[in-house]
Amino acid sequence: MSPAVVVLKSGRDRSVRQRHPRLFASAIKEVSGRPKDGDVVDVTDNKGEWLARGVINQQAQIAVRLLTWQHDEAIDETFWQRRVHAAIARRKRDPALAHTDAIRWVFGESDGLPGLIADDYAGCLVLEISTLAAWRALPVLVDALSEAIAPRRIVRRMDEERLQHEFGGMVPRAVREALCDEAPAEPVEIRERGLRFLVNLAGGQKTGFYLDQRDNRARVAAYCEGAAVLNAFSYTGAFGLHALAGGARRVVNVDSSGEALALAERNLALNGGVRAEQCYECVEADVFDYLRRLRNGDERFDVVILDPPKFAHHPGQIERASRAYKDLNRVGMSVINPGGILVTFSCSGVVDAALFQKIVFSAALEAGREARVIERLTQASDHPVLLSFPEAEYLKGLICRIE
Ligand code: SAH
Repeated sequence: MSPAVVVLKSGRDRSVRQRHPRLFASAIKEVSGRPKDGDVVDVTDNKGEWLARGVINQQAQIAVRLLTWQHDEAIDETFWQRRVHAAIARRKRDPALAHTDAIRWVFGESDGLPGLIADDYAGCLVLEISTLAAWRALPVLVDALSEAIAPRRIVRRMDEERLQHEFGGMVPRAVREALCDEAPAEPVEIRERGLRFLVNLAGGQKTGFYLDQRDNRARVAAYCEGAAVLNAFSYTGAFGLHALAGGARRVVNVDSSGEALALAERNLALNGGVRAEQCYECVEADVFDYLRRLRNGDERFDVVILDPPKFAHHPGQIERASRAYKDLNRVGMSVINPGGILVTFSCSGVVDAALFQKIVFSAALEAGREARVIERLTQASDHPVLLSFPEAEYLKGLICRIE
């Protein structure tokens, strides 16, 4: 039986021809063959020329998740297996991942697997599902991953917000039940460049640990010799511990989550504590309040790291998010010693690198500080950016020397 056919409106075939994996409902002229949500469909241009094949979901704004642009490639079990194996093979050849046992094996669209994230924490695999297409393929995906990396445990998670978009508001019970899994109650231990970290898979954020910042933690550590380091939005202290390993004299982690900070304390102990001349503090506070208080006092830092959560989730929030980034960076700069270092990030995909740089510039102007970009940072290599899907690039960071 041949798949149902989605015919595009005239002039709306460009993104599909350019292999963009998302097809929006607004580009569709008609759907023939009455596919059910979750079925495989062929996509043609408005004259009937075959363009691509994917999985349809008419409840969602992204009506088709495009999977192949090769006419003879069927979306069957072997298709999902091939995609999983290819994703794993790419990372096995990646020298940047040799020093860690915490790896993102699958990064959604960038690996041709929309809606699937697979993070491995020392053999404990966390799967995050955010599309109907990935949910449908879940049994095959789980088998393929099990065969390829033999995890000792698989934890499934749902991305509630995105799944709601997929299912027009309500995530069906079957999906919820398939994806709500009991994670290990005890944190799992991973290693990253000679350091050890506990990762809480039961209640942690994201899938448990910010793997995307892996290389950046090492970059930042290089500036920390003898420094007083403020690690704002510290989560479980990963930047802070790398800073200590890099010879920081003092590290202050600030986060609003007491639970994250409790792990930051345990992570310190796990790595042998501090040397005699070092100190390590964890402060539970709102970073904005904390920085304002700090600014009014005399204490200053040599390195300030700002790694806030996502401020903008969609384009409508860019303006408000820009103001928040600007305020944060302005106060952040004001507590840096002259000649010190600001490490500032944005993980909002809709705030691009050029805009982010402008925001940091405005912050510097308002703070009355001169800032020079000395390094540009991005997400780690197991979060690659497929060029036909530039939206995959979300993390950007600047290391600036602040006079
Ligand atoms: N740098 C961390 C990841 C930071 S994630 C790492 O490398 O592991 C963002 C963190 O900001 C979360 O831990 C969250 O608890 C915290 N957070 C969010 N809003 C905050 C606020 N207003 N003040 C303090 N912490 C906040």
